[in-house]
Amino acid sequence: MIIRAGTVVTMDGPPIENGAVAVSGGRITNVGKFSDISATNSGEQIVDLGEQALLPGLINAHCHLDYTCLRGKIPPPKSFTEWIRAINAEKANLSPEDYIRSINDGFAEAKRFGTTTLANLTGFPELVSRIQPSIRMWWFAELIDVREPSRANEIVDAALEKLKSTERWGLAPHAPFSASAKLYRRCEEIARSEDVPLTTHLAESREEMSMFRDARGPLYEFLKEIGRDMSDCGQRTPLGHFSEILRDSSTSVGMTQNWLVAHLNELVDDDFDLLARSITKFSIVHCPRSHEYFGHSPFQFDKLCEHGFNVCLGTDSLASNDDLSLFAEMRAFQKEFPNVSPEEVLKMVTVNGARALRQETVLGKIRSGFLADLVAVPCARSTSAFEEIVAFDRPVSWSMIGGQVQNSA
Ligand SMILES: [Zn+2]
Repeated sequence: MIIRAGTVVTMDGPPIENGAVAVSGGRITNVGKFSDISATNSGEQIVDLGEQALLPGLINAHCHLDYTCLRGKIPPPKSFTEWIRAINAEKANLSPEDYIRSINDGFAEAKRFGTTTLANLTGFPELVSRIQPSIRMWWFAELIDVREPSRANEIVDAALEKLKSTERWGLAPHAPFSASAKLYRRCEEIARSEDVPLTTHLAESREEMSMFRDARGPLYEFLKEIGRDMSDCGQRTPLGHFSEILRDSSTSVGMTQNWLVAHLNELVDDDFDLLARSITKFSIVHCPRSHEYFGHSPFQFDKLCEHGFNVCLGTDSLASNDDLSLFAEMRAFQKEFPNVSPEEVLKMVTVNGARALRQETVLGKIRSGFLADLVAVPCARSTSAFEEIVAFDRPVSWSMIGGQVQNSA
């Protein structure tokens, strides 16, 4: 099949005017000018998308489809701890069937907005075998042992059993305040032996900073109340704590490349010294609209990039966001960082997302040999293609995942 479009935005060189992409067996086999591609692939079926921009499918590097059904249920909270209490109260009313519906609705919505790959954290790995994802999906088991830290290894191993049958998976110790050092180390051990990605929430809120650095504040009080051992508080920042628990690991030399760290909003000077010294430059996911909903401290995008970290974007869950559109996420990011070019912003949901999932040789670009995950959006070529793509605010008109057309033009 040959797909022709007014502009092909490859993310692998400048956009190609009157371009085309040849696809066969789920992969991209050729990309270039339509005249060249049609001459070398004569006899192939041609799909002409007209005056549209064809681009790589978008990659959402952090979301929780479990909570798609919680859209609009929790108003922006006064404190992060208040939000945790509110979502726990909502979760008490949900059944496994509700979660399955929620996840399936999430696939449909993400796809409508041009997302073809998702890094999804689920609290219910036991439901994964009952779900057929219609999108390229990484299932991360979200792991929490705050009420039973003695069972850390057991909790990780049970989740592992449920995920191993899926094609793409990873592990997600929830956060240093809800997952023990032992649980983090077990996850890292498994990630090394199974060669899978890891993700976690880190330094998200001011309350997490007060808890770890100063041993006080609402999150500290809340966790103490439910019986967490708080002896690891009052010494280090959340990032300092994270790097310390991994450094202690007998199998670890520090933070590995496997980590996809969500948020990292609360960082002090010492943290930046630590990041500058860190040999491994892990990936960081920023969730602009969830960040705004919570009113976290400004995200230190420029400094993190200067230190060589790979920054990508995610939507987080609909318990702290309005929808699963990465186009809206790109615009929210632009509002925060007007000096970053639209091309750089688009990279964060294509090339950088692929790198975060360690798929940079098959996803995130339109290049021969890459997986045929493509989306199209109208492009009048009145301004730059990148500007038009970032400004796009409707469902995509056409998309393809693994060579299969999903939405028709
Ligand atoms: Zn999250």
